[in-house]
Amino acid sequence: MAKIVLIGTGAVGASFAYACVLKSLCNELVLIDVNQQKALGDAIDLNHAMACEKPMQITAGAYSDCAGADIIVITAGTAQRPGETRLDLMHRNVAIFKAILAEVERYAPPEAILLIASNPVDILTHVAYKLSGRPKAQVIGSGTVLDSNRFRFLVGEALDVSPRSVHGFVIGEHGDSEVPVWSSLQLAGIQVGSEGRYGISDAEKERIFRETVGAAGEIIRLKGATYYGIASALARICEAILRDHRAVLPVSSFLEGYYGISDVCLGVPSLLGRDGVIETLEIPLTEEERAKLVHSAETLKTFIKEIGY
Ligand code: NAD
Repeated sequence: MAKIVLIGTGAVGASFAYACVLKSLCNELVLIDVNQQKALGDAIDLNHAMACEKPMQITAGAYSDCAGADIIVITAGTAQRPGETRLDLMHRNVAIFKAILAEVERYAPPEAILLIASNPVDILTHVAYKLSGRPKAQVIGSGTVLDSNRFRFLVGEALDVSPRSVHGFVIGEHGDSEVPVWSSLQLAGIQVGSEGRYGISDAEKERIFRETVGAAGEIIRLKGATYYGIASALARICEAILRDHRAVLPVSSFLEGYYGISDVCLGVPSLLGRDGVIETLEIPLTEEERAKLVHSAETLKTFIKEIGY
């Protein structure tokens, strides 16, 4: 028995809502959007899947429906424009976000978990943590879950193995300064090195990371927005929380002393359960990877300072 409130039923939000239906993630799903017709249209459309899926109450609602919510997922905002960096989106989205958060906090119960996907996700997660007054465990950004999934897909493709059997992370900012952790990339306990059946050459590694970081830009160039990958990532995060999976996913949350990094929200491997982020895991990093993570944190801190948080 769980209630999810979704704020923003655009391409990402609607795809996530459909993933909720297919995964039967909750028994109540409320859709909120400034464009009320879109939210209502999606609610009606999704209800027409009920004859084929497990029953769930799906309605278009208002902020007062945040009462009783277990998770409030925020995907409202403006999508990245072609050629626009995620950080360029910052100023446009922070203003929208603050207004939404004020409404959410009027009605959401203290134990509700905020899950943010709107970009720039690490910065908006930081803003949500500072403004909501909720414990850091309950304010979660989608972080580098999608980036790690893209990375695992590309590694799996290179090795001809399912991405589900590829264990690896991209950490740091969801954006240009993110860091692929090649040093702990594994397949069934086998370290993925540079040679042999389960090796990837340095040139291939470079291509894989380039395609991971560039994936959003490429998809936006091709079809205007990215949504299925992030919808799946959000559904996976909600599933880990609501079903208390204690799964390790690289979500973004407020860090205090992670590899010496504090006062910033970044995607790092985190144990997720019913109460949100239970702990962050300091996975082994090489000196170079650690330096890149610190650089990623510093990059974000510059922007956080710029918006006065
Ligand atoms: P979209 O334009 O299709 O949808 C945004 C929705 O937000 C619209 O329906 C709009 O009406 C709604 N909205 C705007 N202002 C609102 C407000 N004040 N209150 C309620 N609803 C409001 O955009 P999209 O493609 O769905 O992308 C949504 C967000 O997700 C963007 O910020 C995008 O950059 C981000 N995103 C994040 C990831 C990730 O990995 N974190 C991946 C893809 C997209």
